[in-house]
Amino acid sequence: MTRTIIRAGRLIDGSGAPPLIDPVVVLDGSRIAAVFQGAVPENWDGAAGASVLEYPDATLLPGLIDCHVHLNLPGDGTPFPLAVEEPDGVLVAISVRNAQTALAAGITTLRDCGGRGATTFDVRRAIDRGYVSGPRLVLCGQPITITGGHCWYFGGEADGVDALRHKVRELAKMGADFIKVMGTGGGTPGTMSWQPSFSREELDVLAQEAHSLLRKVSIHCLCGEALLLAAAVGADHIEHAWFITDEAGNQRYMPEAVDALARSGARVSATLAVGYHSIKALAALERRSPDEQAALDRWRSMMDDNLSHFNAQVKAGVQFVAGTDAGWGHTPYTAVVDEMELMHQGGLSSMEAIVAATSRAASALAIDGDLGLVREGMVANLIAVAGNPLDDLRNLEKVQLVMKNGTLVSDRA
Ligand SMILES: [Zn+2]
Repeated sequence: MTRTIIRAGRLIDGSGAPPLIDPVVVLDGSRIAAVFQGAVPENWDGAAGASVLEYPDATLLPGLIDCHVHLNLPGDGTPFPLAVEEPDGVLVAISVRNAQTALAAGITTLRDCGGRGATTFDVRRAIDRGYVSGPRLVLCGQPITITGGHCWYFGGEADGVDALRHKVRELAKMGADFIKVMGTGGGTPGTMSWQPSFSREELDVLAQEAHSLLRKVSIHCLCGEALLLAAAVGADHIEHAWFITDEAGNQRYMPEAVDALARSGARVSATLAVGYHSIKALAALERRSPDEQAALDRWRSMMDDNLSHFNAQVKAGVQFVAGTDAGWGHTPYTAVVDEMELMHQGGLSSMEAIVAATSRAASALAIDGDLGLVREGMVANLIAVAGNPLDDLRNLEKVQLVMKNGTLVSDRA
């Protein structure tokens, strides 16, 4: 086994505990063998022959986790119907590029919330076999949607309880770690984000089938009625949790849905970054067409609503994790720090935002036996960043070290 010692100025271990000053983290192969403060104890011989990496002014953390991305999509503003005109082979190539962009930025785990056919499984296979580098991937394959529903281009259309049961079984057979279902319409033209897509009976059967196959269920919800349904059928994870009421994108907060969501214990990815990047891209245009101006106005009003609704949900006890919707619209594969900064603006402390992108994210993804904490026995997915992210979360963008499975991905100290 290769032994490595990493020293840094401080350690934020992902649990929410205060930083440890002058940490010494000892790796044995791909796992963390021990964490000490100051020095390796003299009577401990587990560090013999280790190579030493030093980041004296930096903060060491668990690799970040983005709980909501779409590897297939370029994240460069290409409209969705155009982006999915590419053949599967091109979608795989784009996915590999996106995965590598995230890894270089210290995002060592991505949860993909929907891609076409088997493309995301193929990408994971190529990474796991060592043909290409990339983060750890947690996958659903195709998102399940009603015929003609949000993201139907990906191949996950199913209607009625029998078809839904079949689709869940098929995705589990293909290698899905969790089941993602579009509980409302969304950014796909012609779909309705302001009303539920599936009936209670359909969602009940889908959730029962997924849970019997030991898969968590994640439901995309852009309206309050869908949130109520999701909580009622025992969804494990909610994507977005927005409150759209009409075609214009107006929103109305629904306290009874939020109370049900908080009581259910489901984890929520707010995907605030997607609005942030849409506004950034549209505001940067020197000239805007009437349509672009209308889109900018709409996103600005949605963003104001989303931040105030996020704050209200935090106060109601909803448990958020960091999920960006990277790939969608203009959202880049480095957006997880934007999401953390936005969650901080919306009421989480800096430390809570870090927990939302590390240990809480890992538990939401059922990978917390391996990842999300810098602790003895955990897999060594680590980053070191310049300065202290508790002073400014943007310091998480000053990446000096990225390590995956105990192997250096990049070392810029
Ligand atoms: Zn999404």
